[in-house]
Amino acid sequence: MKPEIVVWLVRDTCRLSDNPALGRASTLAKSIGAQLVPLACLEPRRWANQQFGLPRVGEHWARFRAESLQSLRDDLSAQGCGLWISAEEPVRALMRARQACQVCTVFGDAPLGTEERLETERIQAEDFQSEVVYTDELFRFDQLPFDLIDLPATFSKFRKVVEKKPGIFPDPPQSIPELPPSLPQPWPDPSEWIEALRNQTSPETEVQTIGGEASALEHWQAYLDAGALSHYKLTRNSLCGPTRSSHLSAWLAHGCISARQIWSDILDYEHREGANESTYWLRFELLWREFFRWYSRACDWTLFRVSGPNDKDADVDQNRRRFVAWSTGNTGCDIVDAAMRELNQTGWMSNRARQLVASHLIYESNLDWRLGAAYFESRLVDFDVASNWGNWAYIAGVGPDPRGGRIFNLNDQADRYDPDKTYRRRWLQ
Ligand SMILES: Cc1cc2nc3c(=O)[nH]c(=O)nc-3n(C[C@H](O)[C@H](O)[C@H](O)COP(=O)(O)OP(=O)(O)OC[C@H]3O[C@@H](n4cnc5c(N)ncnc54)[C@H](O)[C@@H]3O)c2cc1C
Repeated sequence: MKPEIVVWLVRDTCRLSDNPALGRASTLAKSIGAQLVPLACLEPRRWANQQFGLPRVGEHWARFRAESLQSLRDDLSAQGCGLWISAEEPVRALMRARQACQVCTVFGDAPLGTEERLETERIQAEDFQSEVVYTDELFRFDQLPFDLIDLPATFSKFRKVVEKKPGIFPDPPQSIPELPPSLPQPWPDPSEWIEALRNQTSPETEVQTIGGEASALEHWQAYLDAGALSHYKLTRNSLCGPTRSSHLSAWLAHGCISARQIWSDILDYEHREGANESTYWLRFELLWREFFRWYSRACDWTLFRVSGPNDKDADVDQNRRRFVAWSTGNTGCDIVDAAMRELNQTGWMSNRARQLVASHLIYESNLDWRLGAAYFESRLVDFDVASNWGNWAYIAGVGPDPRGGRIFNLNDQADRYDPDKTYRRRWLQ
């Protein structure tokens, strides 16, 4: 008789703590006497595919993901549990697993973009009993007082609803569940792939970002210990500086730490050290992330068309020469060039810099905003489909911006945020 397994499909949640999908999978496995199988798939379609001639997966994101998976595997193994890794798409890996085991239920994160939704549908079409869990959101779907179709059209409206209506608050973070043992992987494991990516040298950055739950918690604790949260609102728009903003984005995007954990730690911090506008503001930014997650689901494929979710006509082109100048940091606008070079070398740039380079691509280079979004997808260490495509659509005026798009005066911004040119000198030398 084939052994019975319950699968936790690891998508963008590389952690053990505060992981409702893992919690549900392990509870079910224990209750029916099945074995638990955490399964991570490398999704070759993303690695092989290009959009606008650009790779979908970039070196910085890939290194961070490889580190996160290795760290997850080590953490699972310390709990007596394994991690299966497949070089195939999830549905293929599950069908392969079905040859050796009886797959009872598959638990996975609720799909965020169109591709993830289609992948979930493919799994269901192959008759797998599957459940989606809102693993990486602040709020449960059933807490929200609207259906996706009625999602408030702007961030401000969304924030007012979730902040004002009683009963909407992030659940307290869950601790690591007791994990039942798992089966050995029934196919050769692509560990060499992980090793090769992990062995890439990390870029020189102000904040060392290494994938994995332990390094996420260590980084966040150091940020709190430094007291940086108490002046976050005053410094978050800076272009550089290791504690100016939280630098949590890569760990959040790869699910090494949960937004609920950060939220809860901020409340503890406020209790201990005192609350102010800055301590609130990091929660405010987490609400932006939250808004884009629901927005991406509500808009589905329309988020990726040139006219965006608003279906607004745009007079743009995809001129190669202007795009190469922008992407290589050779536009002649020094603040944009510095930021693009930082992105290319490190995989990261501040929120302010992202807004400025996006404004340049859309309103000065007059290019299709999707070229910028695709380029960010291929370079960012913290790429996440909802935050990236949502922010680009917002600035391009085809998304949820009530003002119909954001045009920045780049000279004024450079004078304001880099008055002594430290940032520009650093990246343009
Ligand atoms: C054009 C553009 C593309 C972007 N693409 C991404 C992306 O692919 N992945 C990504 O994580 N963020 C993206 N952002 C949002 C934001 O720029 C980064 O999250 C932030 O700069 C990361 O630095 P931090 O962690 O120090 O941020 P902090 O200022 O410390 O904020 C804390 C956290 O709040 C969330 N957050 C903050 N601002 C935003 C925002 N505007 N939208 C959504 N979430 C936010 C992030 O998870 C961030 O880590 C994009 C912004 C723009 C303008």
